[in-house]
Amino acid sequence: MIVVMSNSATQGNLDKVIDQIEALGYKADVEKGQFTNVVAVIGDTRSGGKETLEGLDGVERVIPIMKPYKHVSREFRKENTVIELPNGTKIGDNKITMMVGPCAVEDQDQVKTMAEADKNLGFPILRGGAFKPRTSPYAFQGLGLEGLKILREEADKNGLMVITEVMSEADVEMCVEYADILQIGARTMHAFRLLKEVGKTRKPVLLKRGFHATIREWLLSAEYIISEGNWNVILCERGIRTFDDEFSRNVLDLTAVQILKKESHLPVIVDPSHGTGQRDLVVPMSKAAIAAGADGLIIEAHPNPSKALSDGPQSLPVEELPALRKELEEVVTAMGRTI
Ligand code: PEP
Ligand code: MN
Repeated sequence: MIVVMSNSATQGNLDKVIDQIEALGYKADVEKGQFTNVVAVIGDTRSGGKETLEGLDGVERVIPIMKPYKHVSREFRKENTVIELPNGTKIGDNKITMMVGPCAVEDQDQVKTMAEADKNLGFPILRGGAFKPRTSPYAFQGLGLEGLKILREEADKNGLMVITEVMSEADVEMCVEYADILQIGARTMHAFRLLKEVGKTRKPVLLKRGFHATIREWLLSAEYIISEGNWNVILCERGIRTFDDEFSRNVLDLTAVQILKKESHLPVIVDPSHGTGQRDLVVPMSKAAIAAGADGLIIEAHPNPSKALSDGPQSLPVEELPALRKELEEVVTAMGRTI
């Protein structure tokens, strides 16, 4: 539910509404507007309370949200959510946000090369995995804490922000210390306790779509994060598994971008690297993603993809990044956006 306060409501009226929401067993989240305040009622509001809240002084109306994913829905918030990072980078505004870097952090030199390339190209966010969710337990699992430190150091030297995957509840605190955005991977989109744990932080969370997740399931996973009070959620389409795996690793579902824009107020990022699994498809699908209305891209790149410890075949060589930027510029301009 959303409680819309009248524009003559006093602070005392607002405090009483918050007290009543809490007495009903929900959490209250106040969004202060220029003229009116709106209070989000967080919790399973099927248990009632609408009439009680409507009867309080200063309440103009109470709007029930019909969607199962309440707080992520457009019904709940009409304006796009824009997430601001500590260095001023915004995600979800008119600018296309670029998150570029290796699949996995391998060593300092590799990350240094990538971070410098990002800086030179005006890509504000360095991606890199320190905890890698590998299909085989014998494959490279990531450098862990050492990887986080390398990311932070190289990002700081170049004025960049860091996005990295957190795989387990046990690592949330450590990742919060070093990263600016926490990535939840496709494999853990359904790990509800992990979602709640990142929901307890106030770090932006990029939530990737699970291999087999419907859009509804994905939005409900986002709801798990918001239900703990963290509204800084970014949705990331990274391809889904279908019956045809002969020509691409996954099927990049660009229809989802527009569906999410209708259904939700959250920013939408596209990952054409995992979405296709093939380097030569990354640039065309990046352009397509921007044309489809994405707010940004997360792309894997490597100084020497043939030697990469993970996802080499889909990684762009660092020297191809200027061409990527140039090709994107045309679509970005055509869409009336900037990069
Ligand atoms: C990754 O970003 O390297 C990754 C493992 O992504 P996903 O969870 O989408 O497979
Ligand atoms: Mn990868």
